[in-house]
Amino acid sequence: MSEEGYEMHYIKRAFDTNWIAPLGENVNEFENELALKIGSKAAAALTTGTSAIHLALIAAGVGEGDLVFCPSLTFSATANPIIYQHASPVFIDSDYETWNMCPKALEEAFEKYPNVKAVIVVHLYGLSADMDKIVTICKKHHVTLIEDAAESLGTVYKGKHTGTFGEYGVFSFNGNKIITTSGGGMLVSNNEERIAKVRYWATQSRDPARHFQHSELGFNYRMSNVVAGIGRGQMKVLDDRIEKKKYIFEYYKRELGELAGVKLMPVNDWNKPNYWLSSLTLSGKVKPIDIIEALERRNIEARPIWKPLHMQPYFQKYDFVGKGVSEKLFETGICLPSDTKMTKEDLERIVRIIKKLW
Ligand SMILES: *Cc1c(COP(=O)(O)O)cnc(C)c1O
Repeated sequence: MSEEGYEMHYIKRAFDTNWIAPLGENVNEFENELALKIGSKAAAALTTGTSAIHLALIAAGVGEGDLVFCPSLTFSATANPIIYQHASPVFIDSDYETWNMCPKALEEAFEKYPNVKAVIVVHLYGLSADMDKIVTICKKHHVTLIEDAAESLGTVYKGKHTGTFGEYGVFSFNGNKIITTSGGGMLVSNNEERIAKVRYWATQSRDPARHFQHSELGFNYRMSNVVAGIGRGQMKVLDDRIEKKKYIFEYYKRELGELAGVKLMPVNDWNKPNYWLSSLTLSGKVKPIDIIEALERRNIEARPIWKPLHMQPYFQKYDFVGKGVSEKLFETGICLPSDTKMTKEDLERIVRIIKKLW
């Protein structure tokens, strides 16, 4: 069956069984299939990755006045739910070895703020953070670890999937992610009881009673059965997508890796990334903006690396612990076109345009 074939098949099943509303076979099976794929005991399908982070923070007991450590080099959606909980982020710097949360900066942050409530680690662009070190530090300080694996579904660190190292793992199926349901998210955990609680919060905290009864604050965060049908179809193409993403990265590496000043994103021995976005840094005379503009003139989109959150107008008032690595990565980094629908000719054209700048 073609890719769309699988999706239509599951969506049709939702209609046939009259389960258009939330809940139903597709939701349950999408949760089971994802949990099985990554090796987690339980999963809750939600409307977005952001809502999954929000409920993970609530599950971790984060509330008003609490502090949460969070990488600075990430999408704003990692940190926004901390604010929804009236808690405050403390931004942690990256290291050059992983581009992700620097374990040394994390240790430093614990010295400065020993009473932190939770840590969110992100696996940027499908590259895993150095989880052995980060898990060890969090265990030592008895702090809940949440993994924002929105960009890293399928990424493996030392034989184990990202999203399964912390108490909670978060995935996103937004339009730009490696697989998509047009919009969606998943919260995973080995704690089945907590996941059951998350499902309860996500469906307006309806108590098991004939009348509408609520003994806790509720949210409308549950994924619908139709959307979950798309997710089930997309799960079948995940491995192919990772293959294609890897091919794209390897192609860029081969064609651009030797150019003066070019350094591809760090793929460590212990890391099997999903290569969601192929990225590199530049230290020579060619700047990221030169590549972005050269591609833009041919209607091809490339983007800078995420702007660190501690540099964002909204988040500037929060503390930052580190030495400026995330700032440097932002200044010198670029994400190259990485769509799996690109042909070999598309890639050749992109590389030709870029090479002309040298
Ligand atoms: C996409 C993304 C999110 C948010 O996911 P949504 O499903 O869009 O809400 C969170 N964190 C990171 C790192 C992301 O890339």
